[in-house]
Amino acid sequence: MADKKFVYFFGNEETEGKNSMKDLLGGKGANLAEMANLGIPVPPGFTITTEVCVLYLKNGAYPDGVLDKIDTTIKKLELASGKKFGDVNDPLLLSVRSGARVSMPGMMDTVLNLGMNDASVEGLAKKTGNERFAYDSYRRFLTMFGDVVLDIDHHDFESVIEAKKKELGVEMDTDLDAGALNDLVEQFKLIIKDNTGKDFPQDPREQLMMAIEAVFSSWNNQRAKTYRRLNNIPHEWGTAVNVQSMVYGNMGETSGTGVAFTRDPATGEKKFFGEYLMNAQGEDVVAGIRTPLSIDTLQRTMPDAYNQLVDIYLKLENHFKDMQDIEFTIQEGKLYMLQTRTGKRTAAAALNIAVDMVNEGLIDKRTALMRLEPEQMDQLLHPMIDPNSEYDILGTGLPASPGAAVGKVVFTAEHAEEMACLDKKVILVRTETSPEDIGGMDAAQGILTVRGGMTSHAAVVARGMGKPCVAGCGSISIDMANKIFTIGEIAIKEGDYISIDGASGSVILGKVPLITPGVTDELHTLLDWADEVKEMGVRTNADTPHDALVAREFGAEGIGLCRTEHMFFGEDRISVVREMILAEEKEIREIALAKLLPMQKEDFVGIFKAMEGYPVTIRLLDPPLHEFLPKREELAERLRLLGSEGADKQKIDKIRKVMDRVESLTEVNPMLGHRGCRLGITYPEIYGMQVQAIMEAACELNSEGMEIVPEIMIPLICHVNELKSVKENIVSIIESVLAENNCKMEYLIGTMIELPRAALTADQIATEAEFFSFGTNDLTQTTFGFSRDDAGMFLPVYVQDSILENDPFAVLDQGGVGELVRIGIEKGRSTRPDIKIGICGEHGGEPNSVKFGYNVGLNYVSCSPFRVPIARLAAAQAVIEKEE
Ligand code: PEP
Ligand code: MG
Repeated sequence: MADKKFVYFFGNEETEGKNSMKDLLGGKGANLAEMANLGIPVPPGFTITTEVCVLYLKNGAYPDGVLDKIDTTIKKLELASGKKFGDVNDPLLLSVRSGARVSMPGMMDTVLNLGMNDASVEGLAKKTGNERFAYDSYRRFLTMFGDVVLDIDHHDFESVIEAKKKELGVEMDTDLDAGALNDLVEQFKLIIKDNTGKDFPQDPREQLMMAIEAVFSSWNNQRAKTYRRLNNIPHEWGTAVNVQSMVYGNMGETSGTGVAFTRDPATGEKKFFGEYLMNAQGEDVVAGIRTPLSIDTLQRTMPDAYNQLVDIYLKLENHFKDMQDIEFTIQEGKLYMLQTRTGKRTAAAALNIAVDMVNEGLIDKRTALMRLEPEQMDQLLHPMIDPNSEYDILGTGLPASPGAAVGKVVFTAEHAEEMACLDKKVILVRTETSPEDIGGMDAAQGILTVRGGMTSHAAVVARGMGKPCVAGCGSISIDMANKIFTIGEIAIKEGDYISIDGASGSVILGKVPLITPGVTDELHTLLDWADEVKEMGVRTNADTPHDALVAREFGAEGIGLCRTEHMFFGEDRISVVREMILAEEKEIREIALAKLLPMQKEDFVGIFKAMEGYPVTIRLLDPPLHEFLPKREELAERLRLLGSEGADKQKIDKIRKVMDRVESLTEVNPMLGHRGCRLGITYPEIYGMQVQAIMEAACELNSEGMEIVPEIMIPLICHVNELKSVKENIVSIIESVLAENNCKMEYLIGTMIELPRAALTADQIATEAEFFSFGTNDLTQTTFGFSRDDAGMFLPVYVQDSILENDPFAVLDQGGVGELVRIGIEKGRSTRPDIKIGICGEHGGEPNSVKFGYNVGLNYVSCSPFRVPIARLAAAQAVIEKEE
């Protein structure tokens, strides 16, 4: 430990650190050292390492030798600056600033002008001939020291300043003269004495030690902890402390301070972008006390400093090869750089900067691909709330499908459809949605539900449609009778405007302004680069030709999941589907199925055509049949009304029959009940009709010259014998359709792997299945034993309390569900080495899950159309990350 280096000096004469030492010196310290190395004017100083912070916070004491090292480095700083720390005539003053490995803007603390006391303020005034400057610096120091080090509320100081300005009838801090500032200094010292019971420490070394301790301790203040939690920054990292000789932007009208970005952080445009204040110190720019000036003004008022700043920013961008966020101070016309770091930016800016920098030869394509968070792509494709707008958030649910929407509240799908016919924009608010609501969901601008998780019906369908959805907003209660919903104290009536933000889960009162980005050339360019790198296919989950075409626009290479049940809800077919379900005898059921056959065939012709040239996986019917029938309560109400109206017996008997069937189909746990391949086994004629429709469609298109290899997928297999049984039924139908049409065609029969038993016996299943697709929605449900539709009641608490790191329906649980995926792949390939394996649960479009899929050897992922770009980028990043 004794020979460990805890303190690193930096300055234009000598520098010990460099940019690659961010872990040890923090981002700010490492970049200050790098700027000094580049010959950019940086006030000299030193960095106390993050290791010291970690040890100090752990042991409550500094490691041996650190204090001595600080003292000797101060001596070095005195030599470099030509001033003495604690000197009463010409004091060396310091800034003490935090700096973690990654930037945590505004989360930790800073103290400026440290080293001042009652004697040196006078010395400084004399030395600079600027009494106002000296007292301005001292009052600032007292405020920051009081706030940061002594934990006194900064409003206590600010209210005294406000009172002083009022007393003198002035508006600006800069209007306060030396006498007024001196008064403030005296009052501030009293505030400190009142709050701490002690005099303000006059000894500069004591001030320094207290400030260093305060900055280290600020690592654990509440806002820093929250920021780390939200941004996944490990608590163990600690912060470095940067102690730097002060330069003064408050020395008069030829001094100033500012912040700038080397490109526009909102749009990415290649133009210098920033603001500054004259006669000010750094905190004034951020605090918004005065309105800063645009950097273009500096070009006119101080061209020399401006030109030097331009040279420096270009040098920095070329060196760091990324957009920089810089801080500078001009002291009596001389420019100093105080910070440079990678600038935060919007998704649009990130995209444009990455593509521009490749075109400028600054970075290569792979670097560009790593510059965007795949999740950010969502912001590029969906409408979003104008970031400059102000609004009240009423409540928050799950961010189930991104994008923002504004509309009048409606409570039923039918009402949504009626309003859409009148060209009215609506938000459909439901306790939860069911397949019957599809039409209303399509007609609405967005969907808000009280119950349901990230893979609830509302979430899955909305994502498929590319519609904003906030799901599981449990603080809402709907009063259907009065057509009103309440959230907190607020009641919202049918027809009132609300806005929802499906990216954050916010529910907002009234209309918010939206902005709609589009698919730009830059996005196409970046995604083309992603395709050059990625090795895994990206398909889409699509049930209509329209969705398939949208997904192709976004670069989908086929359909990985076509959920055929969604086709059963079309206006023209739901009544026939009900006829089929209500049939008690096979013959009658077959008559209804024969009516459905041409409709299904037409569906498949449309889908195959839309995806021409790409594979299409069609899944046979999956949900329990009662989902296609009217709800029990609804029927009971109809019966009651008919009874009271004295309707004729025939009419009543008809409804009663439906009611009986609904009751006979009712299950306690439908998700674990009569669904998936279980339906195909008990009602083979349903799968028979679907397979016939698929093959007739394929043969028809084949005869027109289209090459098709239908992939037929059986859901919810848990035992190989189920697959054998279903196959026996459908293969004979397939073969007879091919023979009747005199058609030779390859086709594949595969399964969903969405139950733990299927994953664990995948070797047996693969003897029968020609492809696998992991249905990670059901696999998550059955592995955790969490209901997909009810988990919204407790999962948010699990995530908030860190019981689970993420909602497992949104981000694949790699340790549990992922382990089953890994086993399923390994076992499947042990008996059929060339088996094609994909994933079509919602995780197929979630970046971390996509990367996991690549690492465990999936051939493709499949996701809703709007997530295809996200999956393409994540798949490319997976390759790059593995290589690195
Ligand atoms: C799944 O379970 O992951 C799946 C894709 O099927 P569904 O969501 O339709 O149950
Ligand atoms: Mg499923």
